[in-house]
Amino acid sequence: MMDTRIGFGYDSHEFKSGVQLRLGGMAVEHPEGLAGHSDGDVLLHALTDALLGAVAAGDIGSFFPPGDPRWKDADSAIFLNLALEELQHAGYRIVNVDTTLILTAPKIAPIAGEMRARVADLLSVGIDQVSIKAKTPEGLNLNHVAQCHAVALVERVQEPEELKSMEEVIESQRQLEDVVDDLLSSVHGVPKKRATSPVYDTEDIT
Ligand SMILES: [Zn+2]
Repeated sequence: MMDTRIGFGYDSHEFKSGVQLRLGGMAVEHPEGLAGHSDGDVLLHALTDALLGAVAAGDIGSFFPPGDPRWKDADSAIFLNLALEELQHAGYRIVNVDTTLILTAPKIAPIAGEMRARVADLLSVGIDQVSIKAKTPEGLNLNHVAQCHAVALVERVQEPEELKSMEEVIESQRQLEDVVDDLLSSVHGVPKKRATSPVYDTEDIT
């Protein structure tokens, strides 16, 4: 059984005037925003694809077709949430994510801390599990484009262990009930009332 998996995501959007720039789930002060059917949050899109990719659940386009009017100007946190649901459904949780933004402006370093906190919040993980780096597109002639690469490491949620500890609690409660029943029957001559079949069928736990 595989316990860890890795996912990779990439996205790019062109800068466009008259649009609010949104990166990492937050509004960023800049004269231009990113063109796109949704809010154009290139970092959240790359991250969404990395998480979906980690559990081989498709990509952002297969869940949210660009032509669908429902996702016009959509908050990209919706896409990230869906990826988190898919991750959970597959039985995995995030170990860490790492991202690299490639854009000429604005400067990311002064806001990277705030952005990490925001993304960590959206992912329900600690800030130390989120890395956001940025660089300029040297030699790529892509000054009017924002790109983002993202990787996500995920690990299997150890459900069997959790079930085992639940069974232990149930068993200890059962033994305690048996002791009480034995005491009652010996003192009062009350017949044992406990059913022989277990009260809890662990096969029912999904
Ligand atoms: Zn995108």
